[in-house]
Amino acid sequence: MAMLRDAVSIEASTFQFFTRNPRGGAAKPRDLEDERKFVSEREGAGIKAILAHAPYTLNPCSADPAVRDFALRVMADDMERLEGVPGSLYVFHPGSHVGQGIEKGIELIAEFLNKILKPEQSTFVMLETMAGKGSEVGSRFEELRAIIDRVSLKEKLGVCLDTCHVSDAGYDITNDLNGVLSHFDDVIGLERLRAVHINDSKNPLGSHKDRHAPIGEGTLGMETFRAIVNHPALKDLPFFLETPQDLEGYGREIALLRSL
Ligand code: FE
Ligand code: FE
Ligand code: ZN
Repeated sequence: MAMLRDAVSIEASTFQFFTRNPRGGAAKPRDLEDERKFVSEREGAGIKAILAHAPYTLNPCSADPAVRDFALRVMADDMERLEGVPGSLYVFHPGSHVGQGIEKGIELIAEFLNKILKPEQSTFVMLETMAGKGSEVGSRFEELRAIIDRVSLKEKLGVCLDTCHVSDAGYDITNDLNGVLSHFDDVIGLERLRAVHINDSKNPLGSHKDRHAPIGEGTLGMETFRAIVNHPALKDLPFFLETPQDLEGYGREIALLRSL
């Protein structure tokens, strides 16, 4: 309910949260009463979508079996917890192959998802488009497609597009948003795009860096965001800010994006 109150205080209609310590793995004990309250009050509060983000330490395609096992335990626990708030969205970074090669990474991530996804779950899981720093898998749409192709329960799996990451990965959403989205459609299918992380970038196109900037203050710039929030393929998706801001700053960016 604290998250709902914060969201309402800045007139947000969505919010994202970490399921646990993003740089560790420890989660707070569940508060079932709080979950029930949230479920009953969210609609009246105007919260249309919530997105749970997996911790950064989750690496389903690590070369180390202990790290892969940790990823399995964490995400399985996240899936169980999220059923307390039915119909939630969940996003995770596909992982870093750490020298094993993209192909091996794709294989391990798909194998991981085939263990995690269950027909009865109500949570929709998304792979995040990545900037391609280090050995990250998922900076090219083809890699995400290759993962999806190998997963059985495809109806539980989609993609979250991060505007900072795709630009850092080399997709020119500033000069050719239509071209990038039509490429996304050809390779993955726009029906699989279910959420947008809306961030400016501190670095130029193709930099493979992943440093988020406030909306309009980075290399993407305000006109790019005007095009994004109004694009027919995107405008009805839930948007989530991950800019370096405090709560008030998010409130200002929400108002700014609505004004576009
Ligand atoms: Fe992320
Ligand atoms: Fe993101
Ligand atoms: Zn990022």
